[in-house]
Amino acid sequence: MFLLLAFAIPSPAQKLAITFDDLPLNGTLPPGVTRAETTRDVLAILKKRHVPPVYGFINGKRLEGDADGAEALKLWAAAEPFGNHTYSHMDLEKNTVEAYEHDIEENEPVLELLEAKDNWRWLRYPYLHEGDTVEKRRAVRAYLKAHNYRIAQVTLDWEDYLWNFAYARCAAMNDQKAISWLHSSYLDTASEFLDLGREQAKLIYGHDINYVLLMHLGAYSSTILPDALDLLKKKGFKLVTLEEAESDPIYDGDPDVGLHDAGTFLDQWMQVKQIKYPPHAEKPYKELESTCQ
Ligand SMILES: [Zn+2]
Repeated sequence: MFLLLAFAIPSPAQKLAITFDDLPLNGTLPPGVTRAETTRDVLAILKKRHVPPVYGFINGKRLEGDADGAEALKLWAAAEPFGNHTYSHMDLEKNTVEAYEHDIEENEPVLELLEAKDNWRWLRYPYLHEGDTVEKRRAVRAYLKAHNYRIAQVTLDWEDYLWNFAYARCAAMNDQKAISWLHSSYLDTASEFLDLGREQAKLIYGHDINYVLLMHLGAYSSTILPDALDLLKKKGFKLVTLEEAESDPIYDGDPDVGLHDAGTFLDQWMQVKQIKYPPHAEKPYKELESTCQ
């Protein structure tokens, strides 16, 4: 009897924070769709599903001469928190530390205008590139610390932006067959990489962790988000804030080496610790690139 009861108690849900990059918009939109409308739709879904506050990471340069983008950002800022994704979406691997720090700073007036409180002092590294040399990595980390920034790490990622680009094309062509493939391939890939991320955590730390999921706000977001949220629930994740997810001590760690295009925080550790990846399906890069072209 006791044994049966023990099995009936569900294991504690794994905590996960959703984050969105490239605000006001990642990729392109189908004709006639606005950035403001896209943002409004995503915000409505987050609200309806009672998702705890979701950080959006802003590139101020995307606002230049773009009233629609400015409107989208105002909507986001009125509903959800946001952080710094550098002004121009700068790649630390292709630029100096000085240029990179300048790009972080150049983004701050926009963030200050949107929110007087300093809770935007979170940096999401564009391309998740934290430095191709250990000197660059250390210098930017020291700068962030000195300027009271926290690093918005990523521990789960299925490169959802690939579907934003493809969906914008397929929706413009109204190709229903392709759109239905986008739907199934997105959810298959998300499922595969959620499982893979958890296996990675167990290989690196020996146990599950609090996760931070990377998504990109774009053409496909409002269409797929309800199903993506269902999938997270089915997989046993409990949605929490970024602050709560990153209260897990694993986020205090630092591989402290120069890495080239190493991926998520977990991918970085896999490389540093030379851990072999468990078998998994690859993302359908080629198909996503060629569909609806
Ligand atoms: Zn980005």
